[in-house]
Order: sequence, then structure tokens, then C-alpha cells
Amino acid sequence: MLGKRYEGQDCTIARSLDAIGERWTLLIVRDAFYGVQRFNDFQAHLDIPRAVLSERLSGLVEHGLLVRRPDPDHAGRHRYELTVDGRALWPALHALLVWGRRRSPTGDIRAFQHAPCGTTLDDLGACPSCGTTPEPEDVVVVALRPSQRDDPVTRALRTPHRLLEPLAT
Ligand SMILES: [Zn+2]
Repeated sequence: MLGKRYEGQDCTIARSLDAIGERWTLLIVRDAFYGVQRFNDFQAHLDIPRAVLSERLSGLVEHGLLVRRPDPDHAGRHRYELTVDGRALWPALHALLVWGRRRSPTGDIRAFQHAPCGTTLDDLGACPSCGTTPEPEDVVVVALRPSQRDDPVTRALRTPHRLLEPLAT
């Protein structure tokens, strides 16, 4: 069985991948930026086996990227929120979105705008109008075209949504 860590590597990219390099993990982080907080919403949006999702969420909590709190609306369930360390992944995640968009024939289905002015962020995640690089809480995700998917998260993201604000599903 393959180990989960890059034991012999002394590069910090390997250390990063120890925390976020497993399959599904970065998509869970992406959804957390979209404001997904509940297990069932992650599951519905990602079509991920429940056991795998449970393991990935626990791993992100152990690595200090997500914090798990009791869900005030559902006894016995939890909500997951990005920590300061988790939020610090935004520039890396945005860079991956841009990189993927360049390689995709159909482009991205979502755009990211600076909340105060509505300008689309450039490829480096900066606002060309304001000359600043906004933190994720000042970024709005906007659907560019309809998704083929029909789940509570996709439906909620059909209207512009500020990153990190809990998604109404
Ligand atoms: Zn701006």
C-alpha cells in the first residue's frame, strides 16, 4: 500500500501535499471556500463515497485546515469551516483554477469578482480596478453558465455568493 506521506522529501511542496495531496481533498477545500459546511452538502456536490469524505474531512481537521463544530441546527451533526491556515490556501487554489481554465477547452463555469467593485479578478487574483489582491472574504463567485449538475450546492451557487459565507442550501 502506498504511504500517505512523502517521507523522504525535504521540499515544502511535499509537506503541503502531505496535508492536501490526497484525491478529493482540494475539492473539499474549494467547496469550503464556497461556503459549504455540512457533510451532506459536501457529499451531494462531490458525489464522493461517504467513508472517503469522512476520512478526508478528518484529515483536514487533523492538519488544522478545517475546524469541526457542532451544527446548531442538527443535533449530533457538525459543520466544517476553514481555519486561518485553510484560508491561506486561496491564492494556491485560485492559481489552480486559472491553470485549469487555460487547459480546458470549455473554460471555467465560474468567475471570481472583487466584492466592493464587481471587477473580475485577474489571473494573479488581483483586482485590476482597485489595484489590490483581495482576501477570499472580499471575493464573490459568479456562475458564468448553467452547470449540468443539480444538487443543493450547485443550485445555491447559481446566484452570486461571497466566499466563506455559509451557503444557504
Ligand atoms: Zn476592485
